[in-house]
Amino acid sequence: MNPNNKGSTQGEDKSKALRIFKCTKCHIEVPYHYFGKQPKFAKQLIFLEDSFICYDPFAPEKRPLCLGSKCAGCMSPVC
Ligand SMILES: [Zn+2]
Repeated sequence: MNPNNKGSTQGEDKSKALRIFKCTKCHIEVPYHYFGKQPKFAKQLIFLEDSFICYDPFAPEKRPLCLGSKCAGCMSPVC
């Protein structure tokens, strides 16, 4: 079904290069791991809006931290 299916490892995000979330209001720049409503590493969580998620750097275990989202009006990323 998936034309890009080259191997058996499915569901892995291959983009190792971290993308940068940049708030258009306060200009903070933070690398984020995931953008969307349901991060793979926190299946119990479903955000109501697409959000920029990174791992909580202060948590001992992998825990998602919501950095911000896109403005519903202008679609600019804001924290
Ligand atoms: Zn901000």
